[in-house]
Amino acid sequence: MHGGTEGRAMKNALLINPRVYDFKCHDFWMKPYGLLKIAYVLKQSGINVSLIDCMDRHADGMPEEFKKSDKLGRGMFYSEEAQKPEIYKAVPRKYKQYGMPDELFKEKLRKTEKPDIVLVTSSMTYMYEGVFKAISVIKEIFPSTPIILGGTYATLCAEHAEKYSGAARVWKGSANSEYFNLLGKEIKTGLIPITDTEFADIAPDYSLYNNLNSVSVRFSEGCPFACSYCAIKQTSADFRQRSAAAIMKELENYAKLKIKNIAVYDDALLFKNSFIKSILKSVIEGGFDFRFYTPNGLHAAYIDEETAIVMKKAGFMDLRLSLETSDETMQKASGGKVSNMQFSEAVKILKGAGFLGKDIGAYILAGLPGQSTDTIKRDMEFTAQNKVLIKLANYSPIPETADFDKLPTEMREQITKEPLMQNETYYLSVNPEYGYDENEKIKLLSADLNKKLL
Ligand code: SF4
Repeated sequence: MHGGTEGRAMKNALLINPRVYDFKCHDFWMKPYGLLKIAYVLKQSGINVSLIDCMDRHADGMPEEFKKSDKLGRGMFYSEEAQKPEIYKAVPRKYKQYGMPDELFKEKLRKTEKPDIVLVTSSMTYMYEGVFKAISVIKEIFPSTPIILGGTYATLCAEHAEKYSGAARVWKGSANSEYFNLLGKEIKTGLIPITDTEFADIAPDYSLYNNLNSVSVRFSEGCPFACSYCAIKQTSADFRQRSAAAIMKELENYAKLKIKNIAVYDDALLFKNSFIKSILKSVIEGGFDFRFYTPNGLHAAYIDEETAIVMKKAGFMDLRLSLETSDETMQKASGGKVSNMQFSEAVKILKGAGFLGKDIGAYILAGLPGQSTDTIKRDMEFTAQNKVLIKLANYSPIPETADFDKLPTEMREQITKEPLMQNETYYLSVNPEYGYDENEKIKLLSADLNKKLL
């Protein structure tokens, strides 16, 4: 690899992960994964890279009491109550800004050497307020520096972002060779040539963090499935498993840094499972002391005995299985990624490998189109019969998904125009089939059923 800056002054890039505005937010090992991979390419190209991750609880200057983590490395974010946008006035929950306080963010920006480019990432579409506020503060301090906005919101609501974010450019989709060409032109510096396959193999650059107690990783990119409620095809590159050598090198590095908590954020970790089995066998042989978590949920259909055994031995814990619904018609209509029989079989195999019922949580998606409260109750009873924990998640319609396309035209237009309407807590207050009160009752029932396992 070679950089393109020889003989010229070093360029500076500033990377920003903005704060989150929402009704709830907890740190489940969140890291701006894509941005950290971009950081690696920039550094290799001879660019001086700085990062301000507003969602880093352990950043210098953050309130001490919010640096505490549970034994799995998760924790509460510092938060301040924020003014509710008009549209959220009827939502009976406090609206907050989570992450770095304003003053600390400004102080960190002022201490940063003037950047030649600022790259801002974005997460959920309805969290754009945090992105806009970050961009506005960056522009106050560095008025002449171009800002490129990327990430999930920028991808799924590109038109909205172009109109209102204040960024000079909005990048739709994940970073690829075209993105790096654009970046090189913006900063008038040749970046290392990189193919999309090479980029997929790159590890995120965690050296930008001063204090690190967990990392997010991906052993594969993208997902081969196409669930009707999911926008993965728009936000990620095509499904691709990374090279085993690159993954092992990355894990060895975390072991050297004494990182134990590793959140595996793959969307289809177990697909073509000979891949993950061979990686985990190497982890076991290497004698690493890792704790792996699967917050994005596992495909029950690919759990066989050997997979379950190597997962247990390699240090997987607090597993999540993606069930979403036990209604067989809805399972098929939404993409057929799991059947009830496959789910029950997977639970049996995992328990046979040594996982306890309380080590396994099944995601249930509440509020899906056409789903009644009774259906959700049946989903929870089915999960409880399998003696694993219920993990409720709420549905909201996301642009560029098959379910979104089925909504009435007027509703689609409104939701596209105002991404705040894509917030799942807000959606409970307008969903005609499953509202806020029903959701509160369902949460109590879920807690009761879970108590029997704990
Ligand atoms: S399996 Fe998961 S990531 Fe893949 S399409 Fe379905 S919901 Fe999305």
